[in-house]
Amino acid sequence: GAKADGRGVWRYFEPAMNRRLQERRLLELDMRRALAEGQFELFYQPIMDVETRRVKTFEALLRWRHPERGLLAPDLFIPVAEEIGLIVELGEWVLRRACADATRWPPGVGLAVNFSPVQFQSRHLVAQIAGALCDTGLSPGRLEIEITENVLIKDKEATLAILQSLKALGVRIAMDDFGTGYSSLSYLQAFPFDKVKIDRSFTCELDQSRKSNAIIKAVASMCDGLDMTVVAEGVETEGQFEALQREGCSEAQGFLFSRPVAADALPALLCALNGAPWTQAAE
Ligand code: C2E
Ligand code: MG
Ligand code: MG
Ligand code: MG
Repeated sequence: GAKADGRGVWRYFEPAMNRRLQERRLLELDMRRALAEGQFELFYQPIMDVETRRVKTFEALLRWRHPERGLLAPDLFIPVAEEIGLIVELGEWVLRRACADATRWPPGVGLAVNFSPVQFQSRHLVAQIAGALCDTGLSPGRLEIEITENVLIKDKEATLAILQSLKALGVRIAMDDFGTGYSSLSYLQAFPFDKVKIDRSFTCELDQSRKSNAIIKAVASMCDGLDMTVVAEGVETEGQFEALQREGCSEAQGFLFSRPVAADALPALLCALNGAPWTQAAE
């Protein structure tokens, strides 16, 4: 009967929920310790200029070198960091580390850093970014902030004010994972984006589906009219690269060029991709 079912369900869920809560609490403690003990690392993935096929930007991608679980990808821990508010501190660490790394790259190479919607709720975001640029000496024109639609959904007015302050600093703004959310087109009109990154779910169909080709072509042409740069994410094959070149994308990122690599592998990577020796920036 219903009673027996109810008891059965209760008996089944209670221990499972406790276990989940416990795991979450352990992960939380673990993550705070990881930040204090320097277990987080930045990997970098190149974003290529389609026309010249040279590196334009490196995107910083966070990794956690966990002492027992090995190298962890951000999808495994960023949602928790957001939930417990640690993302603000972690995001500041990312930004400062990335800016410091970028000062050692050739000055023509830009830096892209991902920001979480939770960071946009912090009143100190603009000061945090200005402070990181100032302390590391990275020129603001080399920094690009990547945000997803989720940032824009929260509080449009406040977000717009923050983005405008960032633009005034000389920082560029990119919309990440374009095409996966809801009202992307109105966001493109309302917010001062410099760049649109087309989600890799469209890129991976290029070459095989006329629909994806048509979508990429339309987005590229629309962004051209809006004076925004278009990047295709997740480019894995030469065929996809040729297709997005044809459809008018100006930049491309994906395993075809390189997977994300550790910071100390960048000189060799840049040399391999650009075919020119690494030139150390004057410090
Ligand atoms: P994202 O910003 O859209 O970054 C691109 C993701 O796609 C990266 O995954 C990258 O490794 C992966 N990728 C790049 N090229 C290819 C490809 O050709 N094929 C395939 N299958 N995948 C490709 P990753 O490093 O696991 O990062 C996942 C997401 O985590 C990022 O998506 C970003 O939203 C978030 N993230 C990473 N680092 C940070 C960070 O420092 N702060 C915040 N707030 N979020 C971060
Ligand atoms: Mg990104
Ligand atoms: Mg993306
Ligand atoms: Mg993503």
